[in-house]
Amino acid sequence: TKPLHIVGGGMAGSEAAWQAAEAGLPVVLHEMRPKVGTFAHQTGNFGEMVCSNSFRSDDDEQNAVGLLHWEMRQAGSLVMASADKHRLPAGGALAVDREAFAQEITDHLRAHPLISVSDEEVTELPSEGQWIFATGPLTSPALAQAIQAETGAESLAFFDAIAPIVHAHSIDMDVAWRQSRYDKGETEDERTAYINCPMTKDQYEAFIDALLAAETTPFREGEAAGYFDGCLPIEVMAERGRETLRFGPMKPIGLTNAHKPDEKAYAVVQLRRDNALGTLYNIVGFQTKMKYGAQKAVFQTIPGLQEAEFARLGGIHRNSFLNSPRLLDGALRLRSRPNIRFAGQVTGVEGYVESASMGLLAGRLAVAEAQGQELPAVPAETAIGALVTHITGGADAKTFQPMNVNFGLFPPLEDVRGGRRGRKERYKGYTDRAKQAWTNWLEQKVKEPA
Ligand code: FAD
Repeated sequence: TKPLHIVGGGMAGSEAAWQAAEAGLPVVLHEMRPKVGTFAHQTGNFGEMVCSNSFRSDDDEQNAVGLLHWEMRQAGSLVMASADKHRLPAGGALAVDREAFAQEITDHLRAHPLISVSDEEVTELPSEGQWIFATGPLTSPALAQAIQAETGAESLAFFDAIAPIVHAHSIDMDVAWRQSRYDKGETEDERTAYINCPMTKDQYEAFIDALLAAETTPFREGEAAGYFDGCLPIEVMAERGRETLRFGPMKPIGLTNAHKPDEKAYAVVQLRRDNALGTLYNIVGFQTKMKYGAQKAVFQTIPGLQEAEFARLGGIHRNSFLNSPRLLDGALRLRSRPNIRFAGQVTGVEGYVESASMGLLAGRLAVAEAQGQELPAVPAETAIGALVTHITGGADAKTFQPMNVNFGLFPPLEDVRGGRRGRKERYKGYTDRAKQAWTNWLEQKVKEPA
């Protein structure tokens, strides 16, 4: 059998290599470290955690990332087994001893009879053979160039500029209303794709004060190189002048408050639908380097968002990621070069666990393909399925930004008889449904390609 080539021995590449080799497929794992480094990695080990040592919540009944842990464990994940073995006490979170964790992964991969390791940087997209590129947020510049040559320069971003994302159900629609600016849009769907939160002059002034006072996270050394003016954090816009936002992302023109048609808002915060399901909305133009605690405090002063629940908070980071909704098919293959798959953070998921889970899926898909078979699509009701569905189709290609797993990506649950479910019951409903669907998927026989 021809080997599967995997580029990048981080969270995703390590998991992909393990899944493929355990299924009997020979793997060549290409990892450039320690010969070629990145600004964040410190060692030559596989599975190095570059920053925090947390896999976040391990609650598989009430939390989407906890559910992702569960799904990966069911699928024999090396990343999860290594995390469990080197777990540190951290309440409900899964924190790990990062050195022991990476050593564990490295030892397992190096000892595997079907895995060989190449320590060279890969700088092109080969036209022969089956490949998985899992080169992460710090994909080497030479490879990034090769990817851009294939996909077009605008298809690979080098920074994420993430505006906070809010769960639609937590927006107070007695205050906010749906309307696109100047009622633009061909269809009713387009004309209602925005939710607007009005501010009086006093509220606006207080908001600017809060922005200017908020604590921010500085860029790490080496991180800001190549950072450009196109995605200024809102607090920096506010520093440039108190009116900058009111003439920028918070301009009130072309909008009429549906609740108070005679009152002209002094400023308006707009939220744009973020997924096809309509369960998530991003706050338009609100990318920020404010610390997470400060973001919550400041954004919950916005009328209509007092009770907002955030699917993710904002941020600006060095992060190479593809415009996956446009470039990748549902099986993570590059549409223009189907012998190449992508996996991990470079596909536009965010976080250690999410990245590893996309490696797990890519590894399994590659195995089936090498056997001349095809796996059925992963159900969108599962955490892994929700993620892959979002990045390869559910998200809008025009505004695509990296995403953590969260219940807003899941197809909504039917309401229970007699009204809506409480939050706890809803989350339990999501996780129960997901576990059943994932178990079925894992047990399913592969099908012959049509
Ligand atoms: P990585 O784990 O980065 O693995 C990619 C691998 O590919 C690397 O080993 C790299 O050396 C290798 N590589 C790159 N280019 C080439 C090439 N051309 N040839 C051969 N090998 C190559 N996530 C969290 O969950 N929590 C955090 O606290 C957190 N902090 C972060 C801080 C920083 C500064 C950065 C940049 C990211 C952070 N992330 C964090 C995101 C985190 O990096 C990813 O979630 C996770 O590591 C991604 O896994 P991956 O396998 O996609 O990429």
